[in-house]
Formats: sequence, structure tokens, C-alpha cells
Amino acid sequence: MFTSIAGRAVVVTGATRGIGKGIARVFAGAGARVLITGRDEDAAKATVAELSGGGEASYVLGDVSRRDDCARIAATAAGRLGGIDVLCANAGIFPAAPLAEMTDENIDEVLGTNLRGTILSVQACLPALAASGHGRVILTSSITGPITGFPGWSHYGASKAGQLGFLRTAAIELAASGITVNAVLPGNIITEGLADLGEDYMAGMAAALFLATDEAGYITGQTIVVDGGQVLPESLAALDG
Ligand code: NAP
Repeated sequence: MFTSIAGRAVVVTGATRGIGKGIARVFAGAGARVLITGRDEDAAKATVAELSGGGEASYVLGDVSRRDDCARIAATAAGRLGGIDVLCANAGIFPAAPLAEMTDENIDEVLGTNLRGTILSVQACLPALAASGHGRVILTSSITGPITGFPGWSHYGASKAGQLGFLRTAAIELAASGITVNAVLPGNIITEGLADLGEDYMAGMAAALFLATDEAGYITGQTIVVDGGQVLPESLAALDG
């Protein structure tokens, strides 16, 4: 059994839908006070309405690729929740672009949101996370980039692998402030209709919840693959029989 995280102040970026929404739901269900972010106000309102049934939730709009937006998200959390105990830096995009046709805009958009957005989100929340005395940063990376490749997603893979390079040094720099920095690496997850995917799916989101507990305070700079064994077989032959 883990120490309850009820009442903890949790910020989840990119939680208007998809995996971030699932993470927010798991934290709200555990009694945390959750601030979700994204850019789509209608989706944010709908998500908050869903989450509020299982706990305290609110939203603030913001683009994680913009430093001033990240500052506003952190300030809103400080004002509304009284601080930040946990940051789930989850916002990300994955538009496909074959390498031979990739434009500057394609590269900047993906790296700007996924990598720069991760760094800016963490930076903005640092003072509040340090003040909590047990700050937790949980990044949503991916198997794509750190472990696997897929045609059309070389820029995306670079951004997701880049998050892990960031977290290893950030974890060392922030250890003295009592902040841990870890990542979950989801496999392919169909994010439409989360509610229909059932308890097994939500259990995957619980990896982020575990990393936020007091008991995970000795774990930092690490990654947890949450893919149902997707990348485990070393070849198709491993699946025979
Ligand atoms: P999704 O359903 O498209 O949701 C993406 C979320 O990120 C939305 O809430 C979106 O909100 C937000 N977002 C996108 N760009 C943003 C920006 N510039 N500023 C703020 N928020 C932004 O995608 P998902 O599948 O849940 O992916 C979430 C994370 O999981 C990503 O980091 C992705 O790389 C990772 N991941 C996904 C899979 C998968 O199979 N689905 C696998 C591995 C890793 P708004 O539209 O409201 O801005």
C-alpha cells in the first residue's frame, strides 16, 4: 500500500484529451487536486466536468511551446492550488512527415511542442515543485525514439528521445531540491474513447501515479515502459507457439 496522495496539487499538461486526460483521471480518482492544461477550451471544460465527478479539477489554457504560457500555468497552479507537488509534462503532438519531405515548420512544430515544451513546463514549475519539498516531475515520452522507430516519425522520435536526455541531467540537477524526474514510455495507445478501453488501460496511466508517491521518492532519472509487452519480442519468431 502506498501513502495517499489525496490533496496533492497536480498539474497535467495536454490533458484536454487522450493520455493526459487518463493521467488526470487517475490522479483525481486518488483524491489529488488536478489542474489540467491544453489549448482547446471546449475540450478543457468537458474534461473538467468529467473529472470533477471523481475529485477536484480545473483548467487553465496554455501552449507549452511558449514560455509566457508556461509561466501563466505555473502561476495559476500556485494561486489556485497553493503550490505544485506533481507536474505531469504530457502535452505532445505526432504529425507524420517523411524525412525526405520534412520542412523547417514540421521540425520546429514537433520539437517546439514536445521537447522545448517539456523543458519550458518543467522550468516554469520548478520554484513551486522545490517549495513542496517532495516535487515530482513525470514526463510522457514514448517507445518511439527511445526504443523503436517508425517511418514518418523521425522528428517525433528525436523529440521523445530528447526528453530522456533532458530528464537524466534534470534529475541530477534537481535532486538537491528533493525533486524527482522520471518518464513513462507508452506503446501505441488508441486515445479516442478512453472510457471504453477499460481498467487495463487505466492501469497503464497508474504508472504516473506510482512515480508521484512518497514511496517513489528514491526513484529518479528513470523510465517505465507501459506498452503491454509491445516491444518485448526480439523477433517475430519469439511469438511462435
Ligand atoms: P492527443 O490525444 O492528441 O492529446 C494531446 C494533448 O496534448 C491534448 O490535450 C492537446 O491539447 C495537448 N497539446 C498538444 N499540443 C499542445 C501545446 N502546444 N500546448 C499545450 N497542449 C498541447 O495525444 P496523446 O496520444 O494523448 O498523446 C499524449 C502524449 O503521449 C504525447 O506526449 C505523446 O507523444 C505521448 N504518446 C502517445 C502515444 C499514443 O499511442 N497515443 C504513444 C506514446 C506516447 P489541446 O489540443 O487542447 O492543445
